[in-house]
Amino acid sequence: MFASVATGAVVDTTSSRFARLRPVAPGAVTIDDAFWAPRMRANRESTLPSQYRLLWETGRIDNLLRAAGKLDGEFQGRYFNDSDVYKWLEAASWAVAASPDAEPDLEAMIEEAISAVADAQSADGYLNSYFSRERADQRWTDFDLHEMYCAGHLFQAAVAHHRATGSTCLLNIATRFADHIDATFGPEPGKRVATDGHPEIEMALVELARETGEWRYVDLAAFLVDVRGHGVLGDAYGRFGTKYHQDHQPFRNLNEIVGHAVRAVYLNAGVADLYAETGEPALLAALHRLWHNMTLRKMYISGGIGSRYEGESFGEDYELPNALAYTETCAAIGSMMWNWRMLLIEGDARYADLLEWTLYNAMLPGVSLDGETYFYQNPLADEGSHRRQTWFGTACCPPNVARTLASLPGYLYGVSDEGIWVHLYAASSARVPLADARLVELRQETLYPWDGEINIEIGGEGEFSLMLRIPAWCEEGATLNVNGLPWPDALVPGSYVELRRDWRTGDMVDLSLPMPVRCVESHPYVVENAGRVALMRGPLLYCVEQVDNPDMVLNDIELPDQASFRADFRPDLLSGVVAVTADARVNAPSDSWATALYRATASDLRMENREGVSITAIPYHAWANREPGPMRVWLRRGW
Ligand SMILES: [Zn+2]
Repeated sequence: MFASVATGAVVDTTSSRFARLRPVAPGAVTIDDAFWAPRMRANRESTLPSQYRLLWETGRIDNLLRAAGKLDGEFQGRYFNDSDVYKWLEAASWAVAASPDAEPDLEAMIEEAISAVADAQSADGYLNSYFSRERADQRWTDFDLHEMYCAGHLFQAAVAHHRATGSTCLLNIATRFADHIDATFGPEPGKRVATDGHPEIEMALVELARETGEWRYVDLAAFLVDVRGHGVLGDAYGRFGTKYHQDHQPFRNLNEIVGHAVRAVYLNAGVADLYAETGEPALLAALHRLWHNMTLRKMYISGGIGSRYEGESFGEDYELPNALAYTETCAAIGSMMWNWRMLLIEGDARYADLLEWTLYNAMLPGVSLDGETYFYQNPLADEGSHRRQTWFGTACCPPNVARTLASLPGYLYGVSDEGIWVHLYAASSARVPLADARLVELRQETLYPWDGEINIEIGGEGEFSLMLRIPAWCEEGATLNVNGLPWPDALVPGSYVELRRDWRTGDMVDLSLPMPVRCVESHPYVVENAGRVALMRGPLLYCVEQVDNPDMVLNDIELPDQASFRADFRPDLLSGVVAVTADARVNAPSDSWATALYRATASDLRMENREGVSITAIPYHAWANREPGPMRVWLRRGW
């Protein structure tokens, strides 16, 4: 079996001229907290083996064996099913990188899957099991059949496998296919002008270039972006049209984030990667416009995006229904991928804030506490019928969750010429190489996200900066001490505070981020939330579930502005969470409503049936892990 070498990060901007930060390899960071460590262990020991079994049971690996001529019978499932094998391979590779003691069984599964992939590759480098045998003559005829999308996932898996293990066996397969695509498509005479209906290959090509030094892959990624908005997708528009595919305008002209949400944020992540290498201002300007449109008008309070079931798409501005929220888990992960790249480019805390927000409240609800069932859609209100599933016919979300959890240690820290950046807080140890190759060890002790006390011990000597994120959610009261003395600079929410000094091993940094329960309201134009509030504490969004609030109609719960809150860690609840209790009221409709759906407005809306109650809210990411029942994020606001 191979030794874990973990030489690079998920997005390795070490040599990127237009990125301010470079990440730290997942293998250099060990998370050992009570929140993420059990989830990463479940991902390694339960999620990844069970998903591998499902790849076999659903014919996804058989499809590859069939393409290799080793198996007969029909192709099974959807035309993009190879991508699930690749995403699983990427996840398993990062799991090996992050955990040197990973199960040897996992390494055997990786080798078996790579062998199936290798055998399925054509002599000319082409690789897609759907377009093998009886469909081999249909290659590159319909650009909404995800051939480049699947290729992109192969490239990302190959980069992860190479960085995690040092082995080139999957990387060689990836470069042969990339070379085939590069020889087929491009602006040069004799090549074809096209792009894929589902972005993904763009960021993968840039990463493949970073890993191999073949910078023509960046040129190919640029070409695939540049031809958008000029009608090259042709018949692939299908029933959803050009906006669905982000092909209605050239990228540099885009002002509004539209269409299929996963496609949109994957494309933006790819363009961000492109900017990190080319530094073209028009690309960054368009990314800023799209980011502002998304975060100011088209994003749920969970960080989830893509509100419409129709076309799995963004809606109009402020179109954010709760029970009918589509908010695909993959779209949240795509938003994280985009924000991570923006953070690496600019070092602006707003991207890290949104990355954290989306991680806890939009990605994490996608997987159950035991790591074996998944949400595809993530509604913010439900009557108890929406439950996680073990798998899907279109199974994009489960392995996407797996690769995110497996690579999580790589998101905690960053490095720049100034020094070390702490993006996310979690009890962990890290060995971070500075720009001048000095190695600094950091030990982070905290109960985050349940508590905002963070203690960081420095192991390293000399002058450098430690950049600590003061989250935007921490609106007041943050304090910071170095070796027991208050740090003199202001702590501005939504920014990094720079601690520049001559460090000595054993120096202690104590950051305190108070976590009062916050009542949050939404923009008045989000009509479904009018007169409602949601609860947040620290980085976490809360919700109420029927099981914690028996004998109450959740629609009747009313939270007065003067409500007092208690936050208590409950080790018995949902594997241990901080639950929030509040003095609220139930405000049931008066009897006159029994025979009316509408009426003339009443003169005094306060004359309803009110009764004081105590309600219990749990972190939204943990909902639907117990008996089915109604759930609400938004509660009626009282007076
Ligand atoms: Zn998905």
